[in-house]
This record gives sequence, C-alpha cells and structure tokens, in this order.
Amino acid sequence: AKESGRNAYRFYRQEMQQQVTERATLEKALHSAISNDEFYLVYQPQVNEHGQLIGFEALIRWFNEELGLVSPNRFIPVTEEIGLIYDVGNWVLENVCQQLKAWQDIGLPPTFKGVAINISPYQFAKESFVESVCEVIGRTQVDSSLLDLEITEGMLVENIASVAEKMWRLKEHNIRFSIDDFGTGYSSLRYLQHFPITQLKVDQSFVRDLTSDPQSHVIINTIVSMATHMNLSVLAEGVEHQVEKDILENMGCAKYQGYFFSKPVKADTATQYLSGDITF
Ligand code: C2E
Ligand code: CA
Ligand code: CA
Ligand code: CA
Repeated sequence: AKESGRNAYRFYRQEMQQQVTERATLEKALHSAISNDEFYLVYQPQVNEHGQLIGFEALIRWFNEELGLVSPNRFIPVTEEIGLIYDVGNWVLENVCQQLKAWQDIGLPPTFKGVAINISPYQFAKESFVESVCEVIGRTQVDSSLLDLEITEGMLVENIASVAEKMWRLKEHNIRFSIDDFGTGYSSLRYLQHFPITQLKVDQSFVRDLTSDPQSHVIINTIVSMATHMNLSVLAEGVEHQVEKDILENMGCAKYQGYFFSKPVKADTATQYLSGDITF
C-alpha cells in the first residue's frame, strides 16, 4: 500500500510538472503570437427564421507551429491572467473593424445588421476602453451601428455605475450590446434596466438540452418572454438541429446561430455568404 501510495504521488507530481511546463510554453508562445501573426478571425453566421443572414459573430483563432490550433477557451483565460488580453482585445477590434469596413464598401445585404465581438470583462474594465473603441472606429471609418459588443452577465453586477456609464457613451455611437451566455451567470435581471442592452443570447447549454430536458424548455421560454416584455431581441446559440430551430421559433425566438446553419468560417467564405443570395 505504501509502495502504491508513493507511485501515486510520483505520478501526481509528474502530472503537475507537466501542467506547469505546458502552461509556461503556452504563455511564452502567447507573448509573440500577435507579432508573429498567429491569430486570425472566423465568422459564424447569425440568421433569422427565414434563414437570411442577419449578422456574424467574430471568433478568434490561434494557430501556433508548436502547439497547433489552440482553443480560445484555453488561451483567453491565460491572456486575462497575464494581462495580454488588452492587446489581444484590441487586435480583435482592429481586425473586425477593418474587415467590416471592407464589407461595408462592397455593400451589405439589407437583412445584415453587423458583427458581434466578444469583449472580455478585463478589457471592458480598462479605463481607456471607450476611447480605444472610438479611436478604431474613427480610423477605420467603419459604420459603428454595425458593431454588437457581447458582454457577460457577471460584468453587470460589479461597478454598475462605471459599467453603465461606459456603455451609454458607446451607445451614443449607436453601438449595440448583447449579453452572452444568458441564463448561466448571476441573476442580474434586477440591473438590466440600467444598461443599454439590445439583445440576450440564450446559452447553448439550454439549446443542447432542449429536446431532452423539460427544464431547459421552461428556461428558454422564460428568457424569451422576458426579452419580449423588455423589448429586447433574443438569439439562441448552439442550434445544431432542425428540430431545435423549430421549437425555438414556436417559442418566439427568431434569431439563431449554430452548426445547423453554419460553423464559423474564414473571412473569404464569410464574404461569399454576404455577396451570394444564400439562405441557410
Ligand atoms: P462564446 O462566445 O459563447 O462562443 C460560442 C462558441 O460556441 C464558439 O466556440 C463557437 O464556435 C461554438 N459554437 C457555435 N455554434 C455551435 C454549435 O452549434 N454547437 C457547439 N457545440 N458549439 C458551437 P469558440 O470559437 O471555440 O469560442 C469559445 C469561447 O471563447 C467563446 O464562447 C468566447 O467566450 C471565447 N472567445 C472566442 N473568441 C473571442 C474573442 O475574440 N475575444 C474574447 N474575449 N473571447 C473570445
Ligand atoms: Ca459570444
Ligand atoms: Ca455564448
Ligand atoms: Ca461561452
């Protein structure tokens, strides 16, 4: 027993050591990812009940020679911990605005309302956030009403006054705000009214369980009716099957995003989606 205990400990120590090394490799690689041009964006279509393109969500991708393709779920938290999220966040903003300006110049379909960008709470909390957004808009000449900033529920319960003030300043430029992963975080319902929110994004975990778990059905129903009463738009994420789209549509949710319509695609395919008369 003693021997196996020792072996278990040794194994544990090796595991720990390996994790520390991996993390160090990741951090080191992240520090040069921007200058090495290792990030790129993919765009996932957002569609209405008729399958028409109403927007894209921009999602970051990181390809590193040594590490391969690393998921943002893995590296974004690290950039937040080591303070690199400001540079990464600005990189995303800059690149979305440049791309959007190019699309704007080609001409956008009438149903298309713009591009959603994920904003880290750390990025939003930075004193200079509003100025840096305005600077990019001014420089790229992008139509700022085409920007939809995705923030999380958790952000709305801390520093309410300063968060609200920043959001209202951005709203003066007709920038829109969506709450991402709605229903999974703090119940910030009580505070929603303080913020210029335009849309709730129903988290994909509820959609995934929609056909199997009656509780998810109830939760989505509640979110949709609440959104309707508060004059908010509601979009369901992670729609993978026709049946989910149909149930959601019956509930009054008429905006969707998910593999059923399209996976996130590179900019050139997104451009084709915009210029072709495609229904999803
Ligand atoms: P999120 O904002 O909730 O993004 C939705 C995630 O669901 C994306 O994963 C997307 O590829 C995936 N997805 C879309 N449709 C489906 C579907 O039908 N089924 C399933 N199973 N998944 C679907 P991704 O791109 O790996 O991003 C993961 C998370 O990383 C994002 O979650 C977001 O929190 C974060 N993230 C991604 N890009 C950025 C960024 O530019 N900035 C920041 N701060 N965070 C980002
Ligand atoms: Ca998102
Ligand atoms: Ca989400
Ligand atoms: Ca998420």
